[in-house]
Formats: sequence, C-alpha cells, structure tokens
Amino acid sequence: MNTHLPIVVIGGGTAGCTVVSTLASLTSFPIVLVEPGPISQHDDDEKFFDHLSNEQIHTTIETTLVDGGIEKPYVQARSLGGGSAINGLLLTGEAPPFLEGLTRMATDADCGQMGKALLTESGRHSRLWWNGGRWNPGRAVQHLVDEGRVSVVTDAVSYLDHSQRKITVAHTASEAVEGSVFILSAGALLTPSIMLHSSLERSVPGIGDGLQNHPTVTFGVRLRESIPYRFDASVVRESTTSSGAELLTVAYERASFEDRSLGLLSVSLLNPDSRGAVWRSSTAMHSDFNMLATLRDRVAMREAVRELISTATSEAFTKIAHEVLIDEEGHGVDDLVAMNNASLDEWIYEHVALVSHATSSCHGIVDDGGMVRGISNLYIADASILQSVPSCTPAGPVVIEASRIARALGETLV
Ligand SMILES: Cc1cc2nc3c(=O)[nH]c(=O)nc-3n(C[C@H](O)[C@H](O)[C@H](O)COP(=O)(O)OP(=O)(O)OC[C@H]3O[C@@H](n4cnc5c(N)ncnc54)[C@H](O)[C@@H]3O)c2cc1C
Repeated sequence: MNTHLPIVVIGGGTAGCTVVSTLASLTSFPIVLVEPGPISQHDDDEKFFDHLSNEQIHTTIETTLVDGGIEKPYVQARSLGGGSAINGLLLTGEAPPFLEGLTRMATDADCGQMGKALLTESGRHSRLWWNGGRWNPGRAVQHLVDEGRVSVVTDAVSYLDHSQRKITVAHTASEAVEGSVFILSAGALLTPSIMLHSSLERSVPGIGDGLQNHPTVTFGVRLRESIPYRFDASVVRESTTSSGAELLTVAYERASFEDRSLGLLSVSLLNPDSRGAVWRSSTAMHSDFNMLATLRDRVAMREAVRELISTATSEAFTKIAHEVLIDEEGHGVDDLVAMNNASLDEWIYEHVALVSHATSSCHGIVDDGGMVRGISNLYIADASILQSVPSCTPAGPVVIEASRIARALGETLV
C-alpha cells in the first residue's frame, strides 16, 4: 500500500493534464487532480466555434485590456483538457516533439474561402492540434482515472492552507484535500488568484506581476456567399514590422457559432513589451493586461493594422466580401484608411481585442524547476510561468514547460 500523501494537481487544463500524465508514468505517489470542468464531448468536431457554443466547458473572467479601459470577458476553459479542449486548433510554432503524430499540417482541403484568400496574400497553412481528432490531454488523464491510477475532485480550489512555508491542504467548497506536493495549473489568470486568495503575498512577493497577452485587432468580412469548409481557421500569415515586431494574421471562416455570413480577419502582436498584473483589492480579484502601454507596442500595432487594412481591401478579399467592418456598429474599413497616425492610434486603443492567450503572471516567483520561491512544496506548471507571451500560438510552449517541470519533479518523487 502506498503511504505517501498524494501529489495534488490544481487545474486539469493543457498544462495540468500534461503534468498528471507525466507524473503518473514516473512516480508511484497517489495523484489527485482538482478540476471543476467535465470532459468535453467535442474532440471529433472540426469546427472550434461549435465547442465554444457549449457553455459547460468554458467560463468568462472580466478583465481590462488597456489602462483605464472598460472590463471585457476573457474566455477561460473549464474542462478536463482545459484550453486544449476548446482552442482554435492552430499550432504556429514548433510542435512538442513528444506529440509527434498527434498534430498535422493543414491542407487546401481544410480551408474555406477566407483561408484561400489569405493564402493569396502571403498566408500559409498552419499546423493543427488535430490528426484524425483534436489533441486533448484530458483524454489520457480520463484513462488514468478509469484505471484507478489518478483520482479527480470535480470542484474548484478556493484557497490553500499553509504553515511554516509549506502548503498543507487545498480547500474546495466541498472538500479539504491533503497533499505532500501541490502543483498549481489553473492558468495565468486563476493560478495567481488562488495564491492571492490564500494570502500568500507576504511570503511570496510578486504574485500576478508580468501578465501578458497578444494585443489583437479584428475586422469582420461580410461574405458574398456561404461556402462549405472544414476547419474554422487553418491559414495564418507571419510578418514583421519595420522595427522587427512579430505579427500573426489569422483568417476565420465565420465570426461565431451563429454567424456564418461573416468571416474574421485578425492581426496580433506576438512579442509585446507591455505587461499587466493580477491583483487583489479589499473587495475583489482584478486583472489588467495593460496592453499597448509602451510606445514600441503602439507603433507596432499601428503598422499591424495598416497591414490588415491592405489585406482586407486586396483583390482576393474584395472578390469574396460585400464589405469589411471594423466594429460592431457597422463602420466600414474606409473610415480607417483615411485616418492619420494619431487618430488610428486612438482607434486601436479603443478597439484592441482579447484572445485567450494569457501568460506570465507568475514568471518571477518560481525557480527553474517551477518551485515557488519560499514555499518548499508548491510548484506552478502552466501558462503563468512563461517568461513572456510566446511568439506563436501558446499551447505548444505551455505543454513543453509543463512536461519539463513534471519530469524533473517526478524523478525526485519515486
Ligand atoms: C477559446 C480559446 C482559443 C484558443 N486557441 C488557441 C489556439 O488555436 N492555439 C493555441 O496554441 N492556443 C490556443 N489557446 C490558448 C491555450 O489554450 C492556452 O494557452 C493553454 O490552454 C493554457 O494552458 P493552462 O494549462 O495554463 O490553462 P488552461 O488550459 O486554461 O487550464 C486551466 C484549468 O484550470 C482549471 N481551473 C481554474 N480555476 C481552478 C480552480 N480554482 N481550481 C481547480 N481548477 C481550476 C480550469 O477549469 C482549466 O481546466 C486558446 C484558448 C482559448 C480559451
């Protein structure tokens, strides 16, 4: 019989499920995963907007994007597999080597008219988190649960008890989960929130600092006709600004589950300087991405939007579109063409949008092995520990980091 207290993994998302599977293969310690969301039933569906229409597997968190801006809803996964159960399937950076065969490059047969138009404007097929089905690390964890190797508490951790610089118990509304080692994998907004709710800020200064995301501007493309296609997004374009900032343009075949007559064309700044924070006031938890806080990011985004205007008004897009819309009030792209730099900067500040690529809110509080400095049995393995937001779609770097931390930890817990 194993007499160790369990390893407790908090959050069964992209990183948490990778951590659980890796640890299960390396150690004999019992493992408890605390994850409030269910397993997704959509892993065979190609169109990710269908997944997003299922409100059981995600939630939203109110956050501000720019200093002084109004709060907007950030889509946060709440599912076994986390973001990997609902993501847009795009994998624009290096595929994690140990997932070879579970991802593949998109082809012409995968994309629709929006993707084809972007291909003629220097776009390329993206790699997809898909090969005969979605890569969802929650499925491997579900097998470990079925085999009895891992147990799951289907609830959210509200706070951690600690004493003498060690975590002792993770509390949910219904259970107190004791453990020997605790690994936080609740994502870049919720991992720091759990730490702040646990009043750890005195022992661990810097919780929540450094939050990043990819600033993004999106145009709506009102399509002339509706044409069948396979994936909601499969074509991207990488480019650089005159100052070397990196951009990613993505073509979406529709705007949402409901609206097939509108495509989307978005551009993101992949390597922003600006950083925000997650923090706690006397009444609530807050987060602010503080996007476009530096002149360098504002100039890069201005170039990004000028490039997007040029793409959206190109012959390839004019052929498939009645009109290109720049906001929900129905203003056309011509309004932007005429703007001088100062007016365009102001418009961008007001219209910068959210993608669910939050990272880096805990990068300053962990050592190389993911251990929280000053707390001997608390680790973090999720998007919050990335040094900066990746210059690619983020799930790849999250998986690589989570696997590296779990391997190093697992070798010490035999
Ligand atoms: C709509 C959407 C589209 C995306 N598209 C792409 C894409 O195309 N390509 C790409 O590479 N990346 C994409 N991403 C980003 C990618 O999914 C994330 O970067 C990645 O999932 C982050 O991993 P994580 O483990 O840090 O957090 P998550 O995967 O978000 O996992 C966090 C988990 O913690 C759980 N949790 C939260 N609070 C608690 C608590 N208190 N107690 C216990 N558990 C808790 C949540 O339920 C969730 O399952 C997308 C994300 C979203 C939401």
